[in-house]
Amino acid sequence: ELLINQIAAGEVIDRPASALKELMENSLDAGATDIAVQLESGGIKLLRVRDNGGGIAKDELALALQRHATSKIATLDDLQCVSSMGFRGEALASMAAVAQLSLSSRTAQEAHGWKVETMDGHLSEPAPAAHPHGTSIELRELYFNTPARRKFLKSEPTEFAWCEEVFRRVALSHPEISFSLTHNGKTIWQLPPHTPAGRVAAILGDEFGLAAVAVERQAAGFTLTGLAALPAYSRSSRDAQYFFVNGRFIRDKVSSHALRQAYQDILHGQRHPAFVLFLELPPERVDVNVHPAKSEVRFRDSQAIHSFLFHTVQDALAAPNA
Ligand code: ADP
Ligand code: MG
Repeated sequence: ELLINQIAAGEVIDRPASALKELMENSLDAGATDIAVQLESGGIKLLRVRDNGGGIAKDELALALQRHATSKIATLDDLQCVSSMGFRGEALASMAAVAQLSLSSRTAQEAHGWKVETMDGHLSEPAPAAHPHGTSIELRELYFNTPARRKFLKSEPTEFAWCEEVFRRVALSHPEISFSLTHNGKTIWQLPPHTPAGRVAAILGDEFGLAAVAVERQAAGFTLTGLAALPAYSRSSRDAQYFFVNGRFIRDKVSSHALRQAYQDILHGQRHPAFVLFLELPPERVDVNVHPAKSEVRFRDSQAIHSFLFHTVQDALAAPNA
């Protein structure tokens, strides 16, 4: 069972940033309004996420760490139309297989918190612990027991950069939630709740906001909102391209192509557009279940999506309201 977990773990948790993404998504699923991330040494030495969400009851702590244990799918039907982000029940089990994990939590019904820890593949009995309402999950020494995988990690600054990018994506897509990020004891981000535009400005800078036009259109069951930067802000790299589908960061061919085309007349393909865009559509029109650890989707009607994105962004750029 432990070996299976270690193999599966490598699929889902291939670096600290992947663990961070899963933990932050769990916190969102738990209804948190405040999420604090603490990293040491690029997340390799320590990765801790604390939230003020619904918590996990004492009796369910062990279950949460079991493979294929999820509280998020009741029937197979749900799987076709999942709207919450995590649904596979593999993330925590995978983390427990490749790091020293400790999980502390307290629900609204409990007078104090409970804590469990993994040691050599075994799980401790729940012990009372001081914890506010919500959950903290701590991973220490990622891949301490799988040296081959640990060797594949990049330098600490690079692993930190990946973690920070995950953090930015989650923070951009949830402006109403407060987030913080510390690395090696230093505060990197401290984000109070914002309006969507305020959060974009907080993360990408005022220059982005000033050089961007608002995008907002609703048609045929699709809604696109966000900001698209005019050429003044365009970049020589792709590092300011944020596209979210139903709240999830996505990088896929259909949307990339449509957005590149929308910018064709003003950037002439020479530089990369910059944007933060949110596409909302009924969950049954998109398959987010392509690969658990990847930012991929499959649209059921990609022609319609392509056309909607292309025209909406092209029109917004042609009639700047900035
Ligand atoms: P999944 O998110 O796919 O259900 P995970 O392995 O990520 O699987 O989590 C397993 C279960 O643990 C979740 O279904 C949820 O019930 C519980 N859980 C994990 N993280 C949290 C959290 N931060 N707050 C409350 N419950 C959590
Ligand atoms: Mg999850």
